[in-house]
Amino acid sequence: MEFRNFINGRWVPAMSGATFENRNPADSRDLIGTFPRSAKVDVDEAVASAKRGFALWKATPAPARGDVLRRVGEIMLRRKDEIADLMTREMGKPVAETKGDVQEGIDTAFYAATEGRRLFGHTVPSELRDKWAMSFRRPIGVTGLITPFNFPLAIPTWKAFPALLCGNSVVLKPAEDVPHTATVLVEILLEAGLPPEVIQLVHGMGEEVGKALVEHPDVPVISFTGSTETGRLVGETCGRMHKRLSLEMGGKNAQIVLDDADVELALEGVLWGAFGTTGQRCTATSRLIVQAGIHDTLVAELAKRAKALRLGDGRTAGTDVGPLVHEASRAKVESYVGIAREQGGDIVTGGARATGGTLDHGFFFQPTIVTKVDRTHRVAREEIFGPVLSVIKVKDADEAFAINNDVPYGLSSSVYTRDVNTAFRALTLLDNGITYINAPTIGAEAHLPFGGVKATGNGHREGGWEVYDFYSETKVGYIDFSGKLQRAQIDNYPVEHA
Ligand code: NAD
Repeated sequence: MEFRNFINGRWVPAMSGATFENRNPADSRDLIGTFPRSAKVDVDEAVASAKRGFALWKATPAPARGDVLRRVGEIMLRRKDEIADLMTREMGKPVAETKGDVQEGIDTAFYAATEGRRLFGHTVPSELRDKWAMSFRRPIGVTGLITPFNFPLAIPTWKAFPALLCGNSVVLKPAEDVPHTATVLVEILLEAGLPPEVIQLVHGMGEEVGKALVEHPDVPVISFTGSTETGRLVGETCGRMHKRLSLEMGGKNAQIVLDDADVELALEGVLWGAFGTTGQRCTATSRLIVQAGIHDTLVAELAKRAKALRLGDGRTAGTDVGPLVHEASRAKVESYVGIAREQGGDIVTGGARATGGTLDHGFFFQPTIVTKVDRTHRVAREEIFGPVLSVIKVKDADEAFAINNDVPYGLSSSVYTRDVNTAFRALTLLDNGITYINAPTIGAEAHLPFGGVKATGNGHREGGWEVYDFYSETKVGYIDFSGKLQRAQIDNYPVEHA
């Protein structure tokens, strides 16, 4: 099947006619379709159309914009199973997880719909008599949204829905590994009644389409989720061009398990956190920091359970872990296993490509646990983005917290303890955007701000109320009804006496 871009209110091929293939990572013989390999000229066309869309959409009342997003949520709810199935075919994670991905989009749509009736500013007292002072929100313009492969629906909705609710128009550039899901999202927005020129979809490669979008002078807002290396390039351009920029990037998330923890709960948590989505979540548990007293028991049981996980096609019932998204990811994971060994790590389970039977046609890798990892080892510091868990033994909570913080990233962390004081100390001391207590490092909810510190982000958040701040400009209005010139900071503060 041949898919297209959505530009100028029409489904069109790339102007050059070039295409790229999208294949199922669980079975590379399965061709999902061909997609336009777009270029700068296609981006130029999309931005020109989005500018016309913006003029129309910004004048639409926010509650009416919210109504469209409510209908989007309703359609997604109706099509949930079908979208989950095509998403699994496209990027590999099991259907239970892709259903969660769709649900995140539904939650984001309904949250955005209600925000259309808030979008609060403030009314505050003026320093001067007979004068009002207030702030309110305005749309900004064309937003360029660049998204990764691992949450093919949820992440585009995290960006597009608040951007649209605030009155902006959108040019979406999805990851080249998951163009089908993005196509369905645009179809749904149109079915829900979004005026066509308000949304544009441009498929293609990052260095071609993504770069052209970031560099386009008529796109004042860029929201990017992806690797820290790409984010740095995007940030340099946006800095030079004075663009508003939200960056959500890599992570090296840790689950800390202390001696007083509920061990069964901690085991379930780390198994899900480390190997769910084949370790390809930005919040995946990549480090397990364990206190010495329970280290050996925990690791032995964990290795047994990791070995028992069933690998396979995510659309087959009973599959726990799907493939990596492509061969390059699998090669990267494999090379990190080699690095772990060279630096003195012990591979207690996994450590190799998973092969045999149908697995031979996909990009599978065994769930892998490395012990005897030191905080200085590369597998303790660098994002691997695959099913590899590095275990670090510590003597106490303080050492665990210090090691948690001793990496360039700061997205998510988790602490298993029954001690309330330790739990609150962790919330206070851990350098992450999100800390879970007695729950894994993954599990964000749509109505709370999502994002990380240090090399993970640039201070903005997705989700929650905070994201509406990003997609709107705050303007202030002063209304002086005194009928005379009142000079702020000069004529104010006199207290009149009778
Ligand atoms: P990636 O950086 O390779 O690609 C992300 C997007 O950027 C894709 O759409 C890609 O085409 C585009 N791109 C590539 N080069 C570009 C360029 N020069 N200019 C503009 N755009 C360009 O990331 P990925 O492999 O798709 O996703 C995995 C990464 O994303 C991991 O590092 C993961 O931690 C991160 N991630 C972070 C979050 C978060 O919220 N912090 C969420 C999900 C994923």
